[in-house]
Amino acid sequence: MENIDKKSSSPQNKINLQGFQKVNLYFPKEDDKKKSFNKKENIDESSVMKRILRKRKQNMVAQHEEFIQHDVSLLRNNTLKIDARAKDYCVVRRDKDFVTLYELYKSKDFKQNPKKIFVLGEGSNTIFASREIESLVVKIDSAYFNIITQDDEFVWVSCDAGLLFRDFVVWSCENGFSGLENLAGIYGTVGAAPVQNIGAYGTEVKDVIDNVTYFDLKIGDFRTINNKDCNFSYRSSIFKYQDGTKIISQVCFKLKKQFVFNDSYSALSKAFANVKKSDINPLSVAKKVMEIRDNKLPNPRNLGNCGSFFKNPVISFEHYERLSLIYPNIVAYDDNDGKKISAAWLIEVCGFKGKKYNKVGMYNKQPLVLVNYGVRTVTELLDFADLVAQTVKTKFDIDLIKEPHIVY
Ligand SMILES: Cc1cc2nc3c(=O)[nH]c(=O)nc-3n(C[C@H](O)[C@H](O)[C@H](O)COP(=O)(O)OP(=O)(O)OC[C@H]3O[C@@H](n4cnc5c(N)ncnc54)[C@H](O)[C@@H]3O)c2cc1C
Repeated sequence: MENIDKKSSSPQNKINLQGFQKVNLYFPKEDDKKKSFNKKENIDESSVMKRILRKRKQNMVAQHEEFIQHDVSLLRNNTLKIDARAKDYCVVRRDKDFVTLYELYKSKDFKQNPKKIFVLGEGSNTIFASREIESLVVKIDSAYFNIITQDDEFVWVSCDAGLLFRDFVVWSCENGFSGLENLAGIYGTVGAAPVQNIGAYGTEVKDVIDNVTYFDLKIGDFRTINNKDCNFSYRSSIFKYQDGTKIISQVCFKLKKQFVFNDSYSALSKAFANVKKSDINPLSVAKKVMEIRDNKLPNPRNLGNCGSFFKNPVISFEHYERLSLIYPNIVAYDDNDGKKISAAWLIEVCGFKGKKYNKVGMYNKQPLVLVNYGVRTVTELLDFADLVAQTVKTKFDIDLIKEPHIVY
């Protein structure tokens, strides 16, 4: 186990997995040379970089804590602000933590008292569904990234799974790399991004992922798989429905050096309709996307939520045709398997938009977002979600499926 042999299916993959001793490489462009650089790390020190550097320092200090901790509060580890506690909890920051976890997983003790494994990022797509979480909660908390290689067109950047995705997006846009700008402001960690193939404003993260490295707890080894083998689809991948034993440690992004504006989403094309082409760049797009999102979505810092609570359901063409005779304004998109219906529209037509029941409700600007106005226990929240889903079922004969991962 000491010499972990990483199998790579990608020619560009030269990932150095020496944990926090990794060296950050940064290849400045001519314009960037004018900027000030952080001498130690050789990267520019924007506010985002300051946050990342702070996290790395905290991680170094934390290296002597017990690996398995007990009765740990998860309140700060989920954006829905549910006050659950993990019976068993550990933090994985570097390669040797994966090894320790593997040894634990294979131990006689663990075999005699098996537990489900739940891999936790920022908890922005997670519902802790009981007060005491029985699963072993494995928190991923690493925050390094390297430029691995580049050619005339692309740059390959490998990121640790614990890095905040929104921080990495800002870094990439600030450095003029294109591909992630439409995904600016999405909550969560880099490691969780491929899990449900996060998407927004006409882009999905699969469009910019080159390969993904995960630790396979069953065999105690790292594996790197390329984009195709991740089986990405709408809000899904091979990592979505698994038992927690495939733990993503790194994601390698392939970003464009030349900016390509994806304005397929109408709110974005409208926002830039009167802007000179030469003034549009990854950073200006990212800023606009964040502005649009801020106006539409509640900030979890102020109001507990986990983004879209339900997936957009896909129904058959026949079902869609029947509904569109009764509801000519139904919001639907083409899908390989039929018609994808806007869950937000369904919820709004059922009268839940902006409705508050005690301390739970659907957000007034985006009815797909369930908001926690102050409940600490999950029952009230899930009961309300069931009421919404049941009402949609009765009115439209459509099943709403919850998007977040429900953990016990
Ligand atoms: C305000 C708000 C807006 C949002 N907007 C969007 C949006 O526009 N588009 C979108 O797609 N999503 C959106 N989301 C949902 C969420 O941001 C994403 O799903 C995000 O990728 C979750 O990241 P996380 O680190 O918080 O994952 P968590 O909630 O911690 O985990 C989510 C799932 O990923 C698994 N996982 C996490 N890390 C790893 C890992 N390293 N290895 C293997 N499995 C792992 C977990 O086990 C779990 O199954 C939004 C959420 C919020 C709160």
